[in-house]
Amino acid sequence: MTEDPSRRDLLKGAAAAGAATAAGPAFAQAANGGPAPDPQTKYTDQPFPEQRQKWPALQREMHPVPDCGERSYRGSGKLTGRKALVTGGDSGIGRAAAIAFAREGADVAINYFPTEEPDAQDVAKLLRAEGRKVLLLPGDLTDQGFCVDLVGRAHRQLGGLDILVNNAAYQQSKASIDEISFEQFDRTLKTNLYAMFWITKTALPLMKPGSAIINTASVNSFAPEKELLDYATTKGGIAIFTKALAKQMAKKGIRVNAVAPGPIWTPLQVAGGQLPGEMGKFGQDTPLGRAGQPAELAPLYVALASNEFSYTDGSVFGANGGTGAV
Ligand code: NAD
Ligand code: MG
Repeated sequence: MTEDPSRRDLLKGAAAAGAATAAGPAFAQAANGGPAPDPQTKYTDQPFPEQRQKWPALQREMHPVPDCGERSYRGSGKLTGRKALVTGGDSGIGRAAAIAFAREGADVAINYFPTEEPDAQDVAKLLRAEGRKVLLLPGDLTDQGFCVDLVGRAHRQLGGLDILVNNAAYQQSKASIDEISFEQFDRTLKTNLYAMFWITKTALPLMKPGSAIINTASVNSFAPEKELLDYATTKGGIAIFTKALAKQMAKKGIRVNAVAPGPIWTPLQVAGGQLPGEMGKFGQDTPLGRAGQPAELAPLYVALASNEFSYTDGSVFGANGGTGAV
């Protein structure tokens, strides 16, 4: 007997929800439906408890655990058959994009730092339960040879590459330039700018017309926090790289866009992204009065990857709680 597709989807959803429970978000939103919630209170508007983890921090050990759409994101075939590589796909915004891409029908390769294996395994468990191909490709993006190799492996093992998300980043808050060591500056630029260049340059000859590159910029690309001098410098660079590369790649039919998030509750923030003692203020000064959750950005990544947005190129899209930075 042939299985009823709607029943099959339901079962898949149930399996995915089960897998999500292992390291599920603390305040996951229910699946869509009913009246739209007030964006001010959609998630918690309470200050986050002070917390610090050793870099790069694990999402599953955060309080509360961020929501990457594990239980809420519903796909509708927007990326059926596509092959995507997402850096920093184990946690935070990259994880939300990876989950959404897979639910839209894409096969996904994620890169992450090797010590983030537990978060990566949580993502893999979730997506495999839905029947998608998930490749785990750990390694250090500050290593040029690794970046080149990463692209080749993703392309070979996925059987193509249509979507590239340069999302990984290093962010350490320091009150003054005096406290930014030469090593920190070097690591921030290597992770956020050099790796993006190495990966993109290697990927482009493998990408066909209709492919899309999405870079993660920041409100800091336009309105830098004074405690994020080195990081904001790279984020400004990412926004400009996006616009300039889009002009080069238009003739090849490859679109290049960026997402510029505001304060989003992710491991980056508890691994030195905020100054000690500041966690309680995180996101509270936005017009919406709270930090965002990674799940709230996933639809932007899907839109920019999808052919529905075929005339959107060289643009940067904000998701920042109303700060007006982008
Ligand atoms: P996150 O910690 O979940 O993601 C960052 C990822 O970068 C890590 O998971 C890690 O896998 C990866 N990474 C860092 N250094 C690496 C290295 N050397 N090798 C391999 N991987 C490495 O945090 P996030 O906030 O989701 O960050 C994703 C993107 O969003 C980043 O580009 C960040 O700058 C951007 N962003 C975040 C915020 C925010 O408030 N969270 C705001 C604006 C922009
Ligand atoms: Mg991580």
